[in-house]
Amino acid sequence: MHGSPEVAVLRLGHRPGRDDRMTTHVGLTARALGADRVILPENATQSRETVRDITERFGGPFEAELTDSPYGLVRDWDGRVVHLTMYGQEVQTVEAEIRTAHREAPILVVVGAEKVPFDVYEAADWNVGVTNQPHSEVAGLAVFLDRLLEGEELEREWEEADRRVIPRSTGKRVEPADDAGDTDRGSNGR
Ligand code: SAM
Repeated sequence: MHGSPEVAVLRLGHRPGRDDRMTTHVGLTARALGADRVILPENATQSRETVRDITERFGGPFEAELTDSPYGLVRDWDGRVVHLTMYGQEVQTVEAEIRTAHREAPILVVVGAEKVPFDVYEAADWNVGVTNQPHSEVAGLAVFLDRLLEGEELEREWEEADRRVIPRSTGKRVEPADDAGDTDRGSNGR
């Protein structure tokens, strides 16, 4: 989106049933907040379909993929690796350094589901904490991407969308993206 090298997000681990919503939300948050691609574990097919469906409806470009080798991807990544963890360096301390590196190299942002193997901490160029308090991969990812992209992602134009949301102080307004017509609904509308 940003004319810089790629930002990809890797979700490590997925427990079907328990993690379905969280894995989907990692993908949706990656898309909405400026990453170019999300890579999900191979058993997260439903989450990938949901992210693809949202991209078809609300626009891109954004890719959602599966991998059968997440650790291989971290090991062989041709760029810099940022692992988000509550045990890492404070985001406010390392964000400028990471932004500088991103001018030259693709960034892989890694988020976990359950316990992340120590190899990932060692393979990462930065282990980054968004606070050093336990919370969620979705929250950590959102704050990190916003710091990395310095808010530019909020101004993004979406391509090939079927529809777009028109911001309103109340209620919901959604228009076909080609302006062929619109739907206007009250605050209880769906
Ligand atoms: N208990 C697990 C462990 O020890 O690795 C962490 C589980 S946590 C619910 C899932 C993911 O959320 C983590 O792998 C990490 O990517 C992210 N996360 C949680 N708190 C974070 C924080 N303060 N900063 C950055 N990422 C965080």
